[in-house]
Amino acid sequence: MSKVYIVGAGPGDPELLTLKAVRVLQQADVVLYDRLVAPAVLEWAPPTAERVPVGKRYGEQERVQREIYRLMLEHARAGRAVVRLKGGDPFVFGRGGEEWRYLAAHGVTVEVVPGVTSALAVPGLAGIPLTFRGVSRGFVVVTGHGAGGAPFDARRYAGVETLVILMGVRRRAEIARALIAAGRAPAEPVAFVERGSTPEARVVITTLAAVAAHRVAVAPPAVFVVGPVVALRDQLMREETEVNAC
Ligand code: SAH
Repeated sequence: MSKVYIVGAGPGDPELLTLKAVRVLQQADVVLYDRLVAPAVLEWAPPTAERVPVGKRYGEQERVQREIYRLMLEHARAGRAVVRLKGGDPFVFGRGGEEWRYLAAHGVTVEVVPGVTSALAVPGLAGIPLTFRGVSRGFVVVTGHGAGGAPFDARRYAGVETLVILMGVRRRAEIARALIAAGRAPAEPVAFVERGSTPEARVVITTLAAVAAHRVAVAPPAVFVVGPVVALRDQLMREETEVNAC
């Protein structure tokens, strides 16, 4: 029986792959990869390795997840080196933990290769440090999606200095309204960073009030950051920023 490597592919820039991820990819027989994995990352696998896209579209997650379980098990039991490649870090909303648990329950050995998560790297690249002495002592990373369309529980995050929301683009207005209702200032700075670490990266700086009023156009994938650290970008970056602070 071979191993399954659960590997983080980083946020998009292929240079943000770890050396360990490269080594493991070079030895892969099968690579099961997610939608957010950059094509250049797959080039590290040998030409003979089987490449299987297993990205999930909205509404078919559970069916695809069962198929991923089946494929991992089948290939591992056939003695192949399986790389389960995920965007960012495998354990930040990647269902990597669930996949590990499934493999463990079926007697398959797992090796983990952490990745650079978009939650931290994408704001950082955009000139938004998640902590900063005197400005923010900590951050929370939370999903804006919520299993089964559960409402965003803003009361839990009202007092968090830096809030990093992944998968939050679609429900951004609802989330911003909930955060204001929970006590955050409408004028609080917000950033959306689309496609961070790629040549298509785009940063929008705005306020909670503008997002709540549906005035901010953003396309996924984007990291949604709320908090005073967003305002530091002005002191760090020289380039022009798209500002949408109505
Ligand atoms: N495991 C991944 C996150 C998976 S959830 C990680 O650690 O990065 C998918 C969400 O991640 C997207 O909806 C978006 O919010 C964020 N994301 C991933 N890659 C991104 C990128 N390059 N730029 C901006 N957001 C990104």
